[in-house]
Amino acid sequence: MNIYLDKRSPNDDHLYTTGDHIDGVVSVSTERDIEIEGIQILFRGVSQVEIEQLSIQRLSRLEHVFFSVHQPMAEMGNIIPNVLKEEHNYDFRFKFVVPSKLMPQTCRHFRQNSHISQAHTLLPPTMGGVKLQMCSEGDDLSPECVKISYSIQATLFAVSKKADFPKTLASMSKPLKIMPIVHEQPPIDRSNNGLYCLMKEKTMKLGLWRSPTGRLFVSASQPQPIVISATGHQRQECMGTIATIELKFSPGGDEQPPDLHSCTAGLSIYTFYSARQWEDFPDSIFATTQFGTGSRSIHQKDIALSKICLKSVQWTRDVAESIESTSLICFTALVHVPIPTPRNKVLVPTFHACFVSRVYVLNISIAYHSTWAKASTSSVKLRMKYSHRHNASHLPKQTEKDAVVCMRNLANWIAAVDEIRSWPEDLPQPLHALLNLARSYRPNLGSEG
Ligand SMILES: [Zn+2]
Repeated sequence: MNIYLDKRSPNDDHLYTTGDHIDGVVSVSTERDIEIEGIQILFRGVSQVEIEQLSIQRLSRLEHVFFSVHQPMAEMGNIIPNVLKEEHNYDFRFKFVVPSKLMPQTCRHFRQNSHISQAHTLLPPTMGGVKLQMCSEGDDLSPECVKISYSIQATLFAVSKKADFPKTLASMSKPLKIMPIVHEQPPIDRSNNGLYCLMKEKTMKLGLWRSPTGRLFVSASQPQPIVISATGHQRQECMGTIATIELKFSPGGDEQPPDLHSCTAGLSIYTFYSARQWEDFPDSIFATTQFGTGSRSIHQKDIALSKICLKSVQWTRDVAESIESTSLICFTALVHVPIPTPRNKVLVPTFHACFVSRVYVLNISIAYHSTWAKASTSSVKLRMKYSHRHNASHLPKQTEKDAVVCMRNLANWIAAVDEIRSWPEDLPQPLHALLNLARSYRPNLGSEG
């Protein structure tokens, strides 16, 4: 028995994304005549977690089949014979589509909020284990004990004399990689916990017993998610982003702001995993009693991203008026930090599944020194999101055809706008220009597919 996946291009590496078709064939041949009950072809998704529970000195292993669909036997392109004849080859076709969502029954445990239900029923990406072997470009920074895998599984059943479970004659599975398209989720802002810190305030003193000489505030707004092509992970078709850091120095007297030295940015990759389902987002409850112990675990990897010199950054002197109508002097500065996409690493999208979560934290640290304080640093930790989008070269043929119509219509948008301008106010009108244009392009589509 063998499983072959259809190649969609000469260099197809069988990486699929949301909406992709997974087509292929299960090929069966035998050396002698064999009576069979039937054949089952499944598209499955499984998450596996291993956790060492020190308190009870036991290794907990968990396997959760979060997704399983079968190919109807009537649609295998071949009638299933009762007997497989010797030295005869039988091909059974399968066709699956990568869904964006899982069935609601996948996640039935107690959940703290509706956002958890939504997150747990999204398709998680392939992660760890199989991925490390299959992906020569670099690992996805997950621990060995966590694995999310997808496969096509074919099983041949023997004729069973009893009415109980049929006996397996042969079985095999073919792993494949899934990198789902993940749209940005609404932020859930419980940010200032053990993991994130959007603002840091530091009181500066000349000595241990002296009065404060000023306060330094370092703050940042949440950077935009970095969008990576869902099918281009090996080359990370993305230049990264820019994070903006705001600095503010409030002097205690007539002190000058500190001299800025440098700024470093690093990425911390967290994989949360558990032997029991997460009832809340693990990054939100991190370092709280809700996080729990024992069956909960966290794996962290750090990557340096960039370092820039800040010696040329100038402070701006501002004067604000206090409630008592006295003048308050402060100094402000803006720092723009490049956030490149790490090379040779597979950044799976940020996701939260029943047993496994992946989140990214951007650590930005500002180094400074002054005549009244030794060299010091102040840091912020930001939630960094990586999401994935479709690569145009992998669009299904029909979608490409539909897109042609949309693009041509948009190219003639000026004609449509001119038409709208001619309408009487407050009177609904059909948009003739777009409709006619769509009709005029439709006959040509067949020759372009
Ligand atoms: Zn769940």
